[in-house]
Amino acid sequence: MLFSKRILKLSESPTLQLNNKINGLLQKGEDVINLTVGEPDYVEPIESSYSAIKAICDHFTHYTNSSGIISLRESICAKLLKENNLAYTPDQIVVSAGGKQALFNAFFVLLNGGEEVLIPTPAWPTYKQQVLLCGGTPVLIPLDESSEFKLTKETLKAFITPRSKILVLNSPSNPTGATYSEEELDDLVSIVEENGLYVISDEIYERLVYSGTYSSPVGINDYMKKHSVLVNGFSKAFGMTGWRIGYTAAPLDISIKIAAFQSQTTASISSISQVAAKYAINNFDKEHLIELKEKRNYLIHQLADTPLKIDVEPGGAFYLFPRVDSVLGNSIYGESIDSVEALCASLLEREHVAITPGSFFDAPNNVRISYAKSMQEICDAAQRIKKYFKEGMK
Ligand code: PMP
Repeated sequence: MLFSKRILKLSESPTLQLNNKINGLLQKGEDVINLTVGEPDYVEPIESSYSAIKAICDHFTHYTNSSGIISLRESICAKLLKENNLAYTPDQIVVSAGGKQALFNAFFVLLNGGEEVLIPTPAWPTYKQQVLLCGGTPVLIPLDESSEFKLTKETLKAFITPRSKILVLNSPSNPTGATYSEEELDDLVSIVEENGLYVISDEIYERLVYSGTYSSPVGINDYMKKHSVLVNGFSKAFGMTGWRIGYTAAPLDISIKIAAFQSQTTASISSISQVAAKYAINNFDKEHLIELKEKRNYLIHQLADTPLKIDVEPGGAFYLFPRVDSVLGNSIYGESIDSVEALCASLLEREHVAITPGSFFDAPNNVRISYAKSMQEICDAAQRIKKYFKEGMK
């Protein structure tokens, strides 16, 4: 057989596939408003751009330490201490090509065949695929609006088996925006600890929290600090998706294994990106958060009289995750809409607004709308969506 059994289990990222299709339409000159992407419309801090240009001119363009340059890892430690009250040393940090690689490193070093990874769902599809690639068994824990898409102690308990090893937490969440309070995390941690689980805490949207302060699951207690891999990156807070910079912060024994694994796979990421990240880390622009909140509120208000039902206001990240089940089974513009995929395809075709089917996140009754776009695009998209339902369902 040509292919490994491992690769035959893998599905390509559906969100990136959809994006390729939309980019194809845009290249043909179609007037598409793309609300599918998980990336902000703002760009890296100017300090990062200049420092990266300087790094190139200074020929800081060779391999670095495969876990990342020491000054960046020190800056990450300083940030984790100051903002999250978490004490790490630079040898506990591995800088990777985005949060995506950081997560893969963590799953790879922790999982043996048959070990179960608990994934509260709706979830970013990459978790499931990476767990499968690493020989683990993803166990999806279905959640819905009734618990505000948040995992509770009781639900977690019901899914734990003797094979459970890791719980994935992603607060704020892609796609639901659900953001856990410290009390809610406390509750979960009691069960995590009782069952000797590890936690992979994906904190990539950590700076995009709309009210209150962000609580990291890793900071809940000493058990968590010793049993968690914290994953973060620069893509969402700083609009630096193309620079490909993420990192893990973990107990030293886990970090040593992650560092060894990365040294044999990619080694260091781009030296230039690392310099840019060092200058970004202390320059988060709070204006981005204020603008995102305005866009969120505007869109929630505009969609209120459409069949896109937002029962839970997202507490963080930059996605709305409305229910659309009242539309499923109906016809719009004479076409039968029997799934969220059909709905998204029809909206794209009729009104040139691209949104993501919730089925990509294992939620077949919802759609995901990314509002990290210009206000003009958000306004136009809202008008087009309203027209689509009003005219189409007449
Ligand atoms: N985690 C979540 C929940 C995400 O949504 C993303 C990006 N879509 C990532 C991790 C990874 O981002 P990056 O690799 O760009 O750091």
